Amino acid sequence: MPVNLLRNLPSVNELLESPPLRNLAARLSHSVVVTRARGVLEELRSELKTSASEASLPNVADLAERIARRILEGEQPSLRSVVNATGILLHTGLGRAPLADEAIDALVSVARGYASVELDLASGERSQRMAAVEGLLKELTGAEAALVINNNAGATMLTLSALCAGREVIVSRGQLIEIGGSYRLPDVMSTSGAKLREVGTTNKTRIDDYRQAIGETTAALFRAHTSNYRIVGFTAEASLAELVALGRQHSLPVIDDIGSGALIDLTPWGVTGEPMASASIRQGADLVLFSGDKLLGGPQCGCIVGRRELVERIAKHPMTRALRVDKLTLAALAATLPLYRKPEEAQQRIPLLQLLTTPIENLKLRAERLATQLAAIPSVRAAAAMEDVAYLGGGSVPTQQIKTWAVALTPAELSVDRFAQALRIGTHSVVGRIQDGKLLLDLRSVFARQDQDLVTAVSQVGGQEAMVDN
Ligand SMILES: *Cc1c(COP(=O)(O)O)cnc(C)c1O
Repeated sequence: MPVNLLRNLPSVNELLESPPLRNLAARLSHSVVVTRARGVLEELRSELKTSASEASLPNVADLAERIARRILEGEQPSLRSVVNATGILLHTGLGRAPLADEAIDALVSVARGYASVELDLASGERSQRMAAVEGLLKELTGAEAALVINNNAGATMLTLSALCAGREVIVSRGQLIEIGGSYRLPDVMSTSGAKLREVGTTNKTRIDDYRQAIGETTAALFRAHTSNYRIVGFTAEASLAELVALGRQHSLPVIDDIGSGALIDLTPWGVTGEPMASASIRQGADLVLFSGDKLLGGPQCGCIVGRRELVERIAKHPMTRALRVDKLTLAALAATLPLYRKPEEAQQRIPLLQLLTTPIENLKLRAERLATQLAAIPSVRAAAAMEDVAYLGGGSVPTQQIKTWAVALTPAELSVDRFAQALRIGTHSVVGRIQDGKLLLDLRSVFARQDQDLVTAVSQVGGQEAMVDN
């Protein structure tokens, strides 16, 4: 790149004289604007050095405008609410389940002030932190006792630490799950101090395999739901009923990590093979562990339900305190659980279940309407409604496919990647998915009230062109 072009770059001081940056300096701080201006100039310099010889230099006003935009973008908090147009309903990267209005109201009201977290208002005495949710969890699962902590990974770790440290826990080789890189059952087991005793093979484990492994140091039989994979073909797995019978014979607790913790049967909506907490308790599991923010559709937490004596032993472990939930989680969970007393109410009021159960014709109509609106926007070359499959996500099996409709966008000028990025960083942050060179906005995970936000977001794309136009 010709050196004289570099020499023509405006100085930081010149840029600071421009109205947008002068205003920002007054509003934010002089040093923020100076630092950002220097950074952008530096970027521009290195872009100019490597770009083609016809590259043109933006004028001072344009450059100041771009720096101002960059500063404002930088001022946006990195944790923002987003429109989830990925189609993945329980996207861990997008915070999993959205909360019900009831949960939000409860959460806001306790957030504003103080709350009876550990105070029994009738007697004025100190109470148990779990009082707000224990009764509800017992009622909905049929368990004798319940404890809620930070998340399900914590529930597993804590349960194993409290009941099995220094002793063996028998697990099928077909169930040594990994839920995202940071949760691998063998690692969780060793961190808890329990010794993993693997039995059977990857595809076949019979109840006799467990029986033969039981010895002096056995502390528990552990079953993990293979949430994110399925072993199919020539397979066998001991049933929960068999494990319970074996556990009873040897006075060993059966711990059932069911993962998602569905509280109602979701098979009518295509979600199959997800164990229900109440079914597991009914079949005799001594402890059942599940997440609050997966299929339950509540706040992030881990629920431990089961036999009173075991739950009490877990509650006394020092790690319980380290993993305890705050008033916000308690309030949100305590307001979500009552919705499950009537399954049809849960389906209507819990956002995750609303999205999951939205009729496909409804999504189709919305996709068609949106495609027409989006196709009329200059930054869009083409927009078409298309049928596709969406996923539950959040550590559920990829075979768990849900019918959906999406709008497939082809940008007019920008590359699909740049277009997708522009949507993510816009004023209504929209996260879609790129598929076959198109940007898909999948409506399975978008609330109908957000359709207009999609149109606004796409209309605002443009004006975010590259720094150097060559
Ligand atoms: C998701 C999952 C976990 C981890 O739960 P978090 O609430 O994400 O900590 C543990 N076990 C199983 C079987 C799971 O599906």
